[in-house]
Amino acid sequence: MYLIEIYRSLQGESSFAGLPCVFVRTAGCNLRCSWCDSEYTFKGGYRVSLDDVLAEVEKLSPGGGLVELTGGEPMLQEKDVVPLMRELIARGYTVLLETSGERPLENVPGEVRKIVDVKCPGSGEAESFRLTNLGTLTKLDEAKFVLSSRADYEFARDFVRRHGLEQKAGGVIFSPAFRQNAVGSRDTANCLLDPQLLATWILEDRLNVRLGLQIHKFIWEPQVKGV
Ligand code: SF4
Repeated sequence: MYLIEIYRSLQGESSFAGLPCVFVRTAGCNLRCSWCDSEYTFKGGYRVSLDDVLAEVEKLSPGGGLVELTGGEPMLQEKDVVPLMRELIARGYTVLLETSGERPLENVPGEVRKIVDVKCPGSGEAESFRLTNLGTLTKLDEAKFVLSSRADYEFARDFVRRHGLEQKAGGVIFSPAFRQNAVGSRDTANCLLDPQLLATWILEDRLNVRLGLQIHKFIWEPQVKGV
């Protein structure tokens, strides 16, 4: 498979936010979200065997712990990524898969906790989500919406209601998009949508969703990669 990097840091998103986690970042993505913070995954990468990835994970987090497959889009390399997930589970790891849900998710092992990032209009990729993937969601999974405007919020709110996501998934996350060219400060001025405003809307509409901040962007400077 082709990877960009493997490293250990703190999980910045989802209900696992704040926990130490090994990140396996795959190369390549078939989407081009306007606010993407992982454009460095679009090209290049190095070829690596399944055994080498497992050895590196074991070195960074011996005997178990949290591992996230992310990208880019990991499911573009389904043929390699699915066996990797199976082997990590067999070795006692808790496995997260961050995916856009554009590729089919039927073959993802049931023990994997999918974090499915449904794209909103502001991303420029709103039509990309594969609706049949809703049938693969269980209470282990989380649906995430990255929001840059009121229009994005309304799209996400209506999507959640229309598809019963609050019942279907283990959690739903509404997360303000972060400015792509953010530099320097570690504050909410870099959010494209003010989290306080988002909180007001969530409460007004009585949604049972989690407001998610990408905490790594507040721990480290937003331009720092590999954290
Ligand atoms: S799916 Fe993820 S990696 Fe791909 S363009 Fe969108 S934000 Fe970037």
